[in-house]
Amino acid sequence: MISKFTDLGISEDVAKAMEDMGWEEPTPIQIKAVPLGLKGIDMFAQAQTGTGKTGTFGAILLDRVDAKLKTPSAIIVVPTRELANQVSDEISKLAKYTGHVCVPIYGGASIEGQLRELEKGVDIIAGTPGRVKDMIMRGALNLTKVKVVVMDESDRMLDMGFIEDIEYILGSMPKERQTMLFSATMPEDIKRLASDYMNKPKEISVSQDEVVLDLTKQYYISVGRRNKSWALCRILDLDKPKAIIFCQTKKMVDILEERLIDLKYRTEAIHGDMPQSKRERVIKDFKNDETDILIATDVAARGLDIDDISYVINYDMPEDVDTYIHRIGRTGRAGKEGIAVSFITTEEEYLIREFELRTEMRIEKREVPDAEEGSRDTIRRVVDYDQICDVYGMCRFEINLGKNDGVGKVSLADYIIRAARIRDISIGKISIESDSSVVEVHKDFGNRMTMDLPKMKYRGKQVRVKVIQ
Ligand code: AMP
Repeated sequence: MISKFTDLGISEDVAKAMEDMGWEEPTPIQIKAVPLGLKGIDMFAQAQTGTGKTGTFGAILLDRVDAKLKTPSAIIVVPTRELANQVSDEISKLAKYTGHVCVPIYGGASIEGQLRELEKGVDIIAGTPGRVKDMIMRGALNLTKVKVVVMDESDRMLDMGFIEDIEYILGSMPKERQTMLFSATMPEDIKRLASDYMNKPKEISVSQDEVVLDLTKQYYISVGRRNKSWALCRILDLDKPKAIIFCQTKKMVDILEERLIDLKYRTEAIHGDMPQSKRERVIKDFKNDETDILIATDVAARGLDIDDISYVINYDMPEDVDTYIHRIGRTGRAGKEGIAVSFITTEEEYLIREFELRTEMRIEKREVPDAEEGSRDTIRRVVDYDQICDVYGMCRFEINLGKNDGVGKVSLADYIIRAARIRDISIGKISIESDSSVVEVHKDFGNRMTMDLPKMKYRGKQVRVKVIQ
């Protein structure tokens, strides 16, 4: 059999499995990396999720190590349990005709089950650093026969503080081996790891435009913190997406999950504090369309491979471009179009420019979609004083009292201080027209201005206040 896969030197058995998986032709990283890897050359490859990197190292190691030796001859070290499971699943599919046994090993799950798997004999391990080290120290995992080692998502592993575990693992396998390092970014500490533990590695990268992100349209919406839920529900109601929503903290994940469930959206959430069994169930529910919305932190969502996510929503914007790329790489996969929407507060707008420059991609501004005619918002929009205030925190209010009502700057300020219980230093500039005036008041007193003041009368006239947005 001759195929575009066998052209790269991939064996017929593995190529056949790829075709069974519906793959028609190699991805750019596969074209660049597989022929080198099959020659046993060390490499460090810059490749993000979605580029076909698992297929790349999978094809290499399946052809480089023998099957059914019982003692592992290849190991893939990954940052998270989800990724361990996912990599192991994909390698097992690729090994359909070669017969290699690949098992995942990760913390947070019972060690006994994993020990039993190991005892049965495995060829390839996909494991997280802590648990792999633990198994080696217990004498349950023998890496002395390893010929190929892969470090996947290496930047993440270093970010997560796994460097010592990784060095321990690398130290417990033969020096004569092939080492491949995959990373979405190539910071200095990764290069150092490569030079310390690899033998004349070749550097490989796939450029941004070869990445699957092409199929993802990127937008941002300017919305203050207090109106994020409102904007989110508009999107969920109108576009009815299958969406993954990212929050910066576990706490925010919990709060948002509770809020969306209260509003009857089919939602579940994952974050690192949940037991592994629950995380796996939540991911399964989402994959099987039992839920439409998955709320997650970055760590919990590492390596999630779900093909039909139509929306990635950055409920909270990540601070660095790599996380941004990783997040939006969850959509626009497997040839389908995806949409990435980021909620941006005024202070975060600079991030958009920075991310556009760094990724050479356009992130378009979009408004919160209009509500359908006659429909009511599930969550009401509120005035977000943080969004409309100036750099000193001052907001402007229009009051229906002017020269004709006999007010001057001092008397109006006095009146507001008493009637709305506002401290005098929280009142800024005042300008008086004939029938109205504009007053600057600190954002902390916004609600008093709009809620307390209109309950008052000034010389018998009902006071009305409008926020100037
Ligand atoms: P990865 O970059 O490993 O996360 O892979 C992203 C997705 O692309 C996974 O669902 C793979 O199964 C799929 N994939 C990998 N290689 C190919 C290929 N040559 N053709 C089509 N899909 C692929």
